[in-house]
Amino acid sequence: MYAVRLWSVRHAKGLNRFYKAFERVLVALHPLWNRIGYDKVERPFQVMEQATKGFLFDCQMCGQCALSSTGMSCPMNCPKTLRNGPCGGVRPNGHCEVKPEMKCVWVQGWMGAENMGDLSKIKDVQVQVDNRLKGKSSWLRVVRMEKKVGEFAPKPPKAPPAKKADAAAAPKPAGEGKAA
Ligand code: SF4
Repeated sequence: MYAVRLWSVRHAKGLNRFYKAFERVLVALHPLWNRIGYDKVERPFQVMEQATKGFLFDCQMCGQCALSSTGMSCPMNCPKTLRNGPCGGVRPNGHCEVKPEMKCVWVQGWMGAENMGDLSKIKDVQVQVDNRLKGKSSWLRVVRMEKKVGEFAPKPPKAPPAKKADAAAAPKPAGEGKAA
C-alpha cells in the first residue's frame, strides 16, 4: 500500500533495527530450519515474507532484498527497476517520470537512509537482479548465506590435474599400444 510504503521510509531507522534483531533470531534458528529441511520451510517463509513486506514496502519478492541499503524504499517499485540510484528523469518535485503520481523510490530511499542516520550503505553498488530468485524468500537466503548452506556451501577443492609422467606410467587399457 503506497501510504504505508511512505510511512516505512519515515520510520526506516526503527524498521531496520527491528529487522536486524529478527535476522539474528532467524540465523540462530538455523539448526531448526536445517532439521526440518530448507526446502520444506521455503514456502511458509515466502508466504510470511510476502504478507509482511508486501504490506510495509510493496515488496515484489525479488528474492535479493536490498531494503537495509536503500533506506527501506524498495527499488523494485521503480518502474525501471533500477537498483543503483535514480534515472535522469526525476521530476523537480521528486516524483517519478514514468508514474508522475508516485514519488521516486530513490528520492525516498535517500530520505530513508537519512532517517536511518547512515548514508554509506545506499552508496554500495547492488548486484544485478537475478530473476531466477524471483518469488523466493530473501530472509531464508540470508540465513543460508550466513550459515553456508546449499548453494553457499564451500565447494570441495578440485583434484589437481594428473601429471604427464603419471599419465604415462598409468596402466594402459587392453589392446592399447599394440600394432594392428
Ligand atoms: S528489494 Fe526485493 S525482497 Fe526487498 S522489498 Fe524490494 S522486492 Fe521485496
